Amino acid sequence: MKSKHAYYIDKWAGFGDWVENRKQDWANLNYLSKHKYHVLRAGLKLDLPFLQLALHDYNKFYPSVWIPWREWSYSKKVETPLDAKLFQDWRKAVQKHYESESHAHHYHKMGVPVEKVPIEYRIERLADHYGVYRANFKGPGKPMTLTQFWMNRRERSPIDPIAKSLIDQKLIYGV
Ligand SMILES: [Zn+2]
Repeated sequence: MKSKHAYYIDKWAGFGDWVENRKQDWANLNYLSKHKYHVLRAGLKLDLPFLQLALHDYNKFYPSVWIPWREWSYSKKVETPLDAKLFQDWRKAVQKHYESESHAHHYHKMGVPVEKVPIEYRIERLADHYGVYRANFKGPGKPMTLTQFWMNRRERSPIDPIAKSLIDQKLIYGV
C-alpha cells in the first residue's frame, strides 16, 4: 500500500495537469476570441452578413475539436510516440472542422469546385486570413489595416479571381 504521503504527492501531480489544461484552454480561448473579433470586423467592412461572421469557426468550440486542437497547439511538442497520437487526433479534429464549416477553403479541401461555393464564403477567406494575422500580431509597430493587408497580399493570395475583384471594389475603389 502507498504511504499517505505518496498518495498526496500523486494527487498534487494530477492537479498540475489539471492546471496545465486550464492554462491551455485559456490560451486557446484567448486566441480564438481575438481571431473571431477581427474576422467579424473585417467581414463587416467587406459587407458580409453578420450571422455568417458570428458563426465563423463555431465548431472549434466542440469538445471533439477543441480538445485535440488545444493539446496539439499548446502542449510541448517533442518527438515521442505520444505526440504522434496528439498529431493524429489533431488532424482528425481539423478534418471535422473542415467538413462542418462554411468557409471556402473548406470546400476546396473537400474538392468542391469554387464556382459552387457561394461568393460570400469566398470573400470570407480574406476576413479569415486577416483574423489569423491580427490574432498573431505582436508588433513592433501598428498592425496593417485590412486594406493595407490586402494590398500587401493580393498577388499571392489563394482567393479566386472573381472574389478578388469584388474585394478590390470594396477595399480599393470603395464601391
Ligand atoms: Zn477562422
